[in-house]
Order: sequence, then structure tokens, then C-alpha cells
Amino acid sequence: MEKKNLDWSNLGFGYMKTDKRFVANFKDGAWDDGVITEDDKVVISECAGVLQYAQTCFEGMKAYTTQDGHVVIFRPDMNAERMANSCRRLEMPIYPEDKFVEAVAKTVKANDAWVPPFGSGASLYIRPYMFGSNPVIGVKPADEYQFRILVTPVGPYFKGGAKPLTIKVSDFDRAAPHGTGHIKAGLNYAMSLHAIVTAHEEGYAENMYLDPATRTKVEETGGANFIFVTKDGKVVTPKSDSILPSITRRSLIYVAKEYLGLEVEEREVLFDEVKDFAECGLCGTAAVISPVGKIVNHGEEICFPSGMEKMGPTIQKLYDTLTGIQMGKIEAPKGWIYTVE
Ligand SMILES: *Cc1c(COP(=O)(O)O)cnc(C)c1O
Repeated sequence: MEKKNLDWSNLGFGYMKTDKRFVANFKDGAWDDGVITEDDKVVISECAGVLQYAQTCFEGMKAYTTQDGHVVIFRPDMNAERMANSCRRLEMPIYPEDKFVEAVAKTVKANDAWVPPFGSGASLYIRPYMFGSNPVIGVKPADEYQFRILVTPVGPYFKGGAKPLTIKVSDFDRAAPHGTGHIKAGLNYAMSLHAIVTAHEEGYAENMYLDPATRTKVEETGGANFIFVTKDGKVVTPKSDSILPSITRRSLIYVAKEYLGLEVEEREVLFDEVKDFAECGLCGTAAVISPVGKIVNHGEEICFPSGMEKMGPTIQKLYDTLTGIQMGKIEAPKGWIYTVE
């Protein structure tokens, strides 16, 4: 297989149409077998459930090339499980978890030439998604659905690499108490757009959302979970029913405990205690960890001792260990690395 002639090291985080995608349809109560197709266009009714009532959810993960030349995917079974949970909450049919992983692998394999080479720092972003496709006018779940997987080669998520970010405490909420914050539903991102556009206009990279009920506790950003480090080296991560359970964050917690021997606390984190932490980072598939240097709350600044030049030492260790595991340089826990045959 010959690789596409792309400037791999200088890719941004954007959509680039690749050769193949996966499509399966749900009709009369069952999924069809699904196919790999070259057709990137979706044709649905003008009254499709997704267009009227936003009945859609998605996933995000990455495939990349290891040092010894294998194409691997990081924990796709976790994405399968999370998408099944999203579907349950949105009254959508579940795409069977084992079939999900198979379809993801098939799509990556079909786009072999688009998987960035080892050492480029780039990867193949995988986006599975599902939506209600038949006409719905009264508010109810659709009867027909389409499950698709697209892939696109990407570089680092945040421009300028791993330089610490300045973020702001948002006046908007991203999730309601007992709402849909814990699932990857499209609707959560539609309502976050105004908040992120506003934050960017004001010069901030991201929003820190507080808990919607009391606005006293840290939740997450629009697309990444928080991880903090205390001055005595403990890893702390917020626990809440309205946070999206990041697979990166859960993996980092495992790495902190089992590889680095660090103490980890998953608990409610008051905004008032954030000023006492030594390090702060955002974790998600796209960036693994992006360090945060400064948090601004209505003009009041919290500056972490790790500064604005580089990652704090503990977050750096977590980052190096997890990316080492992903790249095959450090032995992975059983089942974390899925090799595309
Ligand atoms: C996808 C997402 C994350 C990160 O999850 P990963 O599984 O680590 O990629 C965190 N927060 C939100 C709101 C997300 O949508």
C-alpha cells in the first residue's frame, strides 16, 4: 500500500475527505450488514429525526502507526460501550459493541493509505456516528437510523503544540443536572458553540464549565475532562454525573496508579480549591493532555506554579507514559491496544 502524499507533520485538526467510509442502516427493527463505500454523501428525508430533533450521537478515537509498523487503535471497545450508552439515553438502536469494533477496524484498513506514518506526530481520527434518518414530525424517536464511520488524518489538536493554555470560567452551562452531559450527544455540542466562540473572541482557548446546579464545582470543558495535581503530588479529577466519561482520563488515572504509583482522588472538586493545585490539564483523545497555565474567573486570575512555558512535571509524566503505551514503547495493559490486521 502506498501512502498518500501529505505533509503529515503539518496537518491541522480538520476534516479531509478520505477514500472510504462505513455505512450501516437500521430498518424494520434490525441493522443490515453494513458496507464500505466511496460515497461520502448522506441522502435523507427533509424531515429526518436528526434534522428536526437532533437525534444523533457520535464517538471519537484514533488509529496510528507504531514503531514496528503496525496500525493500532487505542481502546475502541471503550468507545463501543460509550456509544451504546449514548444510544440508550437518546432512544436510538444500539450498534452491537463487537460489530462496532469490527466496523471501525474495517474502515481504518480500507483507508490504510491515510494512516499517518510513525514519527509524524499525526494520527487517523476516527468518527463513528449515528442519526435518526426517517421523517419525524411529532416529537418521538425515529424508526430508521444510519450508523457511519468516517476517518480523517489529523495533526495536534491545539495549535502551537503543548504550550499551556489560558481558559476562562464560563457563564454558560454545558449540561443540565440529570440531563445529557454524560453522553456524546450532538445536542451537547450545538449548545456549546456560542460559549466557545465567545471565549475565543475574548482570547481564551477553552471554557471551564461549573456544575449547573450550584456553580461551585468544576465539571469539564466543551470537549475534555480536567485533571489536577496537588502540591504534594496527588492526582485529582472531578467526579460528576454530568461529565462525559473521557476514555483518556480513565486511562490516565490507571496509569497514575499502576505505572507511576501516584495517589488518585476522583471526587467533587470545588472551584474554590482550584487555586491551591500545582498543575492542571485537559484530557481527551484529540490532545491526550493539554496543560492549562491560567484560569480566569471574571477578571480574577489563577496561575498555576507550572507556568505558561511547559507542562507541569506530573502531567508531563502522565503524558509521556500514556503516549508511550499508545506508541508501543511501554508495555500496555491487556486489551488497550487493538491491532488492525
Ligand atoms: C469526547 C469528550 C471528552 C474526551 O473523551 P475521550 O474519550 O478521552 O476522547 C471529554 N469531554 C467531552 C465533553 C467530550 O465530548
